[in-house]
Amino acid sequence: MNILLLGSGGREHALAWKIAASPLVTKLWCAPGNAGIAQEAECVALDIVDHAAVIDFCNSHAVDFVVVGPETPLAAGIVDDLAMAGIKAFGPGRLAAQLEGSKGFTKALCTEFGIPTGAYGRFTNAADALDYIRAQGAPIVVKADGLAAGKGVVVAMSMREAEDAIAMMFDGAFGAAGAEVVIEEFLTGREISFFALSDGETAIALATAQDHKRVFDHDQGPNTGGMGAYSPTPFVTPEIHAEIMAKIILPTVAGMKARGTPFRGVLYAGVMLTPEGPKLFEYNVRFGDPECQVLVLRMMSDIVPALLASCDGQLKNFDLRWYPESALTVVMAAKGYPGDYARGTRIWGIDDAARVEGAEVFHAGTLAMDGVILANGGRVLNVCAIGKTVTDAQRRAYEAVDRIQWPEGFCRRDIGWQAVEREKAGQG
Ligand code: AMP
Repeated sequence: MNILLLGSGGREHALAWKIAASPLVTKLWCAPGNAGIAQEAECVALDIVDHAAVIDFCNSHAVDFVVVGPETPLAAGIVDDLAMAGIKAFGPGRLAAQLEGSKGFTKALCTEFGIPTGAYGRFTNAADALDYIRAQGAPIVVKADGLAAGKGVVVAMSMREAEDAIAMMFDGAFGAAGAEVVIEEFLTGREISFFALSDGETAIALATAQDHKRVFDHDQGPNTGGMGAYSPTPFVTPEIHAEIMAKIILPTVAGMKARGTPFRGVLYAGVMLTPEGPKLFEYNVRFGDPECQVLVLRMMSDIVPALLASCDGQLKNFDLRWYPESALTVVMAAKGYPGDYARGTRIWGIDDAARVEGAEVFHAGTLAMDGVILANGGRVLNVCAIGKTVTDAQRRAYEAVDRIQWPEGFCRRDIGWQAVEREKAGQG
């Protein structure tokens, strides 16, 4: 098969690495890609916002299958446009991508199909939103309805913060994404990510993974796109796993089908393990970044047939197999991230890092120039490793990190700490 992968981050490098390992693949391109992806695929300078250009490329290069990494092209309907041109693509169509593209849409689906989630209200003006929070009290969560690059959620611990968030959103801080605001009950408990692959009819769970959103050690500082992740997570027990599939994932798949917008692709659920059981607080409609990096390292099965089965409605009897080892990834970011940071700084030692036993380095934002690797983004490298336990994987990943010389970069030193603490206490 000839495959085109869309995207340019660490998630796409991990996908390219796994897709390139498939015996089914004749040729792999990635648009636009990055310096690391270029080791696995031929990078093409396509503007993926331009669907006609992507379709032209597919037609002129006999592309059989397109894999879409990020959410923005999914929300823009690239899978529908490719399908109209007769090209098979992995990921949900525009209407199904609303599970991520509109928080109000997802809340309404939960209400309609009895999926456990926090109490909520949907608002299109500040006055009604303010009345609602005054009636509910703080803490409370204020969310822009649309895609806001992970920045559209304010967990307000006081009334004042909630009022400010409402004012900011209706003042246009997130543009059209904030024209509607969802206000949600503050959920307490442990937050976990749950991944499943759906074909529109059914779904199969992927391995579990946990990410670390805060920028500094001990979960301090502002939220980021994710500073690291590990898999499996000890907090999703077989009972919780079964409950999430039965009460959240499968009813979502059935609900989307009943509405005539079947969901095909990766369902990435943000779930709070509350005292009343698991509750959904958000959906994403693609692989998590950096969770994807640890999932592909643990995936024993060929990924290509799984992605094809999702497109073709063939997941019913599909079995994905996983390595029992743990995997962990440390994100190396440019100093200043998630605020302002410099681009173009030089990085040494990536090859040396990759030689640590069990290690793999995925590029998230890099540029190769004259044989030199330069930082080209906020999150720049994903230094990953597998090991018998999360503790082993963590030790190898940091050994690899320490071989990288990049004075303008930084990383957290405690990725995986919850699992490591449990392993130390002998609770696995
Ligand atoms: P998001 O950008 O949608 O991933 O949300 C950012 C973070 O806000 C999540 O990772 C949660 O930690 C938190 N969050 C979102 N919704 C709620 C909620 N209803 N209760 C408590 N925390 C929440």
